[in-house]
Amino acid sequence: MTASPPVIAIRDLHKRYGALEVLKGVDITASRGDVVSLIGSSGSGKSTLLRCANLLEDSQQGEIVFKGEPVTWRGFDGARRPADQKQVIRIRTRLAMVFQQFNLWSHLTILQNVMEAPVTVMGRPRDEVEEKAREYLDKVGIGAKCDAYPAQLSGGQQQRAAIARALCMEPEAILFDEPTSALDPELEQEVVRVIKALAEEGRTMILVTHDMKMARDVSDHVVFLHQGLIEEEGPPETLFGAPRSERLRGFLSSTQ
Ligand code: ADP
Ligand code: MG
Repeated sequence: MTASPPVIAIRDLHKRYGALEVLKGVDITASRGDVVSLIGSSGSGKSTLLRCANLLEDSQQGEIVFKGEPVTWRGFDGARRPADQKQVIRIRTRLAMVFQQFNLWSHLTILQNVMEAPVTVMGRPRDEVEEKAREYLDKVGIGAKCDAYPAQLSGGQQQRAAIARALCMEPEAILFDEPTSALDPELEQEVVRVIKALAEEGRTMILVTHDMKMARDVSDHVVFLHQGLIEEEGPPETLFGAPRSERLRGFLSSTQ
């Protein structure tokens, strides 16, 4: 039996904003069912890495391979080939993103928010999508809020709606960028519970988080980013239980 290729493999990724090199050669792989957490100080490049992975940003060097399909690569002439627009849209819908600030459409109801991408971007039949959307809203515990607008929901409910929206795209992987850091502590836990349940279901996820307890509980692999480079990585027990690098030790004690 041949193993299937990783859902996403990032190799030697470099990203610059003008003269500022934000990612300096980063490698990350998530195979099916993996939960990979990214931790690190503010400004270390975590959001940039997710945005490059999901092709919201272009990068200058390195490879991104989605299920064995090269997204960026070097041609025979040595020039780097960015993904074409069709490929970008296709891959972006296969890697759903959940943002810190929820990013729901304020003029659409919760149900309409969840149905938007599958219907208008992916062209799936409206009836089928609506049924799925209601299922996922139930799953995250806000089935009763279908007809409400985002402003009528608490932050925790809005973030759960954003997670239902990601699930309704039936993605290969979900990329979370600090999904709990805009929430009050008591609302944070509702979202943590949903993320834990998704991890237990075997969903493939890359999770940027400041919540070390969640990272420890849900991850198969943890990556500590420092100034655009991986400083240390490994299974959560080792990374949190026996960190080797001085920087990681300093970072972990600052988060307690
Ligand atoms: P993190 O998510 O780890 O806090 P980011 O990926 O957001 O870090 O940012 C990494 C660095 O890149 C920071 O120095 C930030 O100021 C810079 N940066 C991020 N986005 C942009 C941008 N669009 N233009 C210029 N600099 C940016
Ligand atoms: Mg960030």
